[in-house]
Amino acid sequence: MALSGEALAVEIMKCVRCGQCRAVCPVFLESGAETDVARGRIFLVKLLMEGRLDGKDLDGALSRCLGCKSCFQECPSGVKGDQIVLAGRAEMVLRHGLGWMKRGLYRGVLGRPKVFGAMVGLGSLAQRVALARVPRDSGIRLRLPGNRVPRTIPWLPRRPLRPKGTATYSPGGELDQETRSALTQGARMGPGAEGKTAPRRRVLYFTGCLTNYLYPRIGRAVIDVLNRNGVEVIVPADQTCCGLPARGAGDLETADRLMAANLEAMSRYEADAIIVSCATCLTSWKEDYPAAGGTLGERARDMAAKVYDFSQYLTEVLEFQPPEGALAMRVTYHDPCHHFKGMQIKKEPRKLLKAVPGLEFKEMAEAERCCGFAGSFSVWNYDLAVKINDRKIKNAAATGAEAVVTGCPGCVMHLADGLNRNQVPARALHLAEVLEMAYQKEK
Ligand code: SF4
Ligand code: SF4
Repeated sequence: MALSGEALAVEIMKCVRCGQCRAVCPVFLESGAETDVARGRIFLVKLLMEGRLDGKDLDGALSRCLGCKSCFQECPSGVKGDQIVLAGRAEMVLRHGLGWMKRGLYRGVLGRPKVFGAMVGLGSLAQRVALARVPRDSGIRLRLPGNRVPRTIPWLPRRPLRPKGTATYSPGGELDQETRSALTQGARMGPGAEGKTAPRRRVLYFTGCLTNYLYPRIGRAVIDVLNRNGVEVIVPADQTCCGLPARGAGDLETADRLMAANLEAMSRYEADAIIVSCATCLTSWKEDYPAAGGTLGERARDMAAKVYDFSQYLTEVLEFQPPEGALAMRVTYHDPCHHFKGMQIKKEPRKLLKAVPGLEFKEMAEAERCCGFAGSFSVWNYDLAVKINDRKIKNAAATGAEAVVTGCPGCVMHLADGLNRNQVPARALHLAEVLEMAYQKEK
């Protein structure tokens, strides 16, 4: 939830204007502008809330924040600079509206799974027809409006990960008909049904938009790895965008509508845990949803304790069964901001990678530094996102890794773009994909 009222005023007052955040803010380090660092942005939001600025002219400054939390981590006063920026954006939307482009993206596409799915389907068809001669492994480089350099976008899949109804993936293969029917009709699992399949555990998988529509291969890998560790995976129907892109843009109305839909979709099933394989979605489930008021907030707080990042669940809850086949590959790891600075997830993915036989892990410099994606930040500020990304790619390339591994599909997309742009012969992969590749070697 965005800070507001007294809580926002108190948070703003905590800033003593020491300027320490200037040493770590990736945007400030590129632009050198005071309005591009937490100290400057906090001051602007203060003037906005006091009515001393109208706000229209603030759009640029506030949209150029990654929400990476580097300032919060560095700040001696513990000021939540990213949260103050979010509050400023929400205030701007209240005063001046959202603008037609953002309204179209957040309300018309991200908030409507049918529209999103249809657009990806059409895009996939257009790619296959218009770009039939482009090699599949090269990615597609397009110069988008307003961008200085072409951007690599992934080949769009013919179909999203999620089928129309609820899907269940069982470790032992197919479920018996009665259990499957109960699940696909949205019934809660009773004790009798559990006895029939006897998986070691049962989880719900919240896929997120990027995995569902752009990278179903990541979702399939997540399901496969969980199955191989004795876990039955249910992918509930009716889940939708986690809402963080809309919340980040100040569109709280859309974000709250999506939160309510997701809480409802996930409440229909009994399971041990809810698994998330996207750092952004994890922040929604662990931080934003539980901060809601009323009954929705209560429900979200109950559910949050059962929400795990994929790597956390494998290392903290399960006794992870490492693959037996050897995967001869050198890899490095990029920490998504919402994992490392938001949830302190750092050792878990490394523990999993180091458990893979034959795999050589080499730490890169500044592994926790933002890759420059930050969701829609890279849509509205691509040239800046490129500059931030180039430093990440330089650090990754210095390790000589054949794959840059990470725990967020958004980072996968931006890392792939950077590797392609800088002609570094390495792939960007999600952690689940690497583990699945290793299991495949067992065959
Ligand atoms: S946000 Fe924190 S680090 Fe930055 S100027 Fe304010 S008190 Fe200092
Ligand atoms: S959240 Fe990141 S980009 Fe935004 S002000 Fe803080 S350090 Fe800078």
